[in-house]
Amino acid sequence: MKVFNLACEHGHGFEGWFASEEDFLGQRSGGLLHCPVCDSGSVSKQLSAPRLNLGKSDAEGPVTSDLETRHQAEFLKAMRAIVQSAEDVGERFTEEARRMHHGESPERPIRGQTSLELARELRQEGIGVIPLPDLPALKNTLQ
Ligand SMILES: [Zn+2]
Repeated sequence: MKVFNLACEHGHGFEGWFASEEDFLGQRSGGLLHCPVCDSGSVSKQLSAPRLNLGKSDAEGPVTSDLETRHQAEFLKAMRAIVQSAEDVGERFTEEARRMHHGESPERPIRGQTSLELARELRQEGIGVIPLPDLPALKNTLQ
């Protein structure tokens, strides 16, 4: 998995998890990438990584870190909202996503486990899948 720092046209920063650079480009050109804050489809990859600025001695460093922290918080908040509003269908995720797509199940947000391979299959069938990172910070809110 690769983690890219992404931002939408409105400057919302968030992280995207992809199998590879090609996966990222494919999802973006296929319109599958959306900002978790405002749902904008105009998403670009950020080249800046705070750690690369270590050589600088001016005041930019800490400012960048603060921004990074805030973006992280926004990202987690958006992820929590998704996780909390979605019905947990566990390992039936792939099956349930297909049933909804074919109108055999009521349309609703769901979450659950699937493999990267199956998620890719779903996308090819035109079913929107957002990979959620397995973060401890997200689990804490589910207790
Ligand atoms: Zn946005």
